[in-house]
Amino acid sequence: MLPHRREFATHLKRIIKSMHRQKPLACSICQQRIEPWEQLTIDHWRGRHDNRPENAQPAHHYCNQRKGNQILPDNPVSLAFTQRLLAELAQDPYWQLAEGADNTDNNLDLLNRE
Ligand SMILES: [Zn+2]
Repeated sequence: MLPHRREFATHLKRIIKSMHRQKPLACSICQQRIEPWEQLTIDHWRGRHDNRPENAQPAHHYCNQRKGNQILPDNPVSLAFTQRLLAELAQDPYWQLAEGADNTDNNLDLLNRE
């Protein structure tokens, strides 16, 4: 049985948290380290319609709010994060299973509520 979409989003957030523990993440908007931990939010980098993991970027809560619906060009921080996240997901058996689910149903909005 495939994971429910809420589990899918929760699992993605768990992965991003563990990445942050291994090596503190930088904000893709201001490119500064995200500290304290509570400032971490997941930004829809290229707009809210795209819920793939490739569209998730770590950002300070205040940077994310200031950015709103603007679409910013990629930068070294955002490109490096996407590469690192996809490498993590490729090694994750739970994620591989969940990829069989309808990914368009995965909602990154859930990430910021949990
Ligand atoms: Zn920031």
